[in-house]
Amino acid sequence: MLTIGAFAKASRLSPKALRLYDELELLRPARVDPETGYRYYAVEQLARARLVAWLRRLGMPLASIRQVCALEPAAAAREIRAHWARVERETAVRRDLAAFLVDHLTAEPRKDTAMLELRYSAHSDTGRVRPANQDTAYAGTRLLAVADGFGPAGAPASSAAVEALKFLESEELPAGSVLNLLEDAVRGATEAVRDVAEGSEEVGTTLTALLWTGSRLALVHIGDSRAYLLRDGGLFLISHDHTVVRAMVDEGRLDPEEATTHPQRALLLKALSGGAPAVPDLKLHDALPGDRYLLCSDGLYGVVPDERIERLLASVPAPDGAVRALVDEANRAGGPDNVSCVVADVVEAAA
Ligand code: MN
Repeated sequence: MLTIGAFAKASRLSPKALRLYDELELLRPARVDPETGYRYYAVEQLARARLVAWLRRLGMPLASIRQVCALEPAAAAREIRAHWARVERETAVRRDLAAFLVDHLTAEPRKDTAMLELRYSAHSDTGRVRPANQDTAYAGTRLLAVADGFGPAGAPASSAAVEALKFLESEELPAGSVLNLLEDAVRGATEAVRDVAEGSEEVGTTLTALLWTGSRLALVHIGDSRAYLLRDGGLFLISHDHTVVRAMVDEGRLDPEEATTHPQRALLLKALSGGAPAVPDLKLHDALPGDRYLLCSDGLYGVVPDERIERLLASVPAPDGAVRALVDEANRAGGPDNVSCVVADVVEAAA
């Protein structure tokens, strides 16, 4: 038996921490002297004490540590990996926000380059299976948006979210205010969807939108609709799916291969809904002449592979033709879901 002092030294935990872990039932002493109240620990408890100490250093909450300590080593390793993937995901959101702010504070207005503008087209189609269309697609001179509603009031939810952003079309965009405007927009969309959902978390919508600032595109994104960029002939996914399956892949619990056919692949981790409010991703993209952006609902990428999307986007010159080709392709593949596409090209403004 070791005294608490000796055990603290050997485990690199303080006696104070050991007393706390005793109270929290993370690590109970092997024996407590009934007379003096002194705690005694067995040498075999050192391994667990060291694990607790390391997990504390990792910043793992006590409740999770208790769970991990109760597991076999292989299962404990999986939990630790999953915990760390969650930390990295949360950090990534803050990293994007930090990059967004740095960009705003340091960017020089473009003077030497030509004025840029968007050429755009949007279309939403019911598809071949669903009885109604719950998607909403919109494109204007400054705002591009796709929303995929779910639940009994999915259609009004997706249209309310997009409607709530349309004030951005007419708003002046003085330098540095984009972030505030987006925050207002997100708050407006969140409230609009909550009104439609009337407190039900079964009703809601995804929302993926791009706001044109004259030289950049600000992305607002929540859910599993997607934003892609076609640049120099290559297709890049610039949004991150907020799905349970995507999170499982990130946490190493699922192969990317398995994810594409997983029965719960549409289960959302985050969305605008009548439930607890969720924070969308915000990102800023520098636009270059020749860039082509695509916003789409899962009704497109769920049945049309990325390589095919890339080929269609690269081969059809006008945005309206590209939108039509993509929607047709989804319907040719069976059209199992509503399908919405917005295509926008960054072009030099006509003098
Ligand atoms: Mn859908």
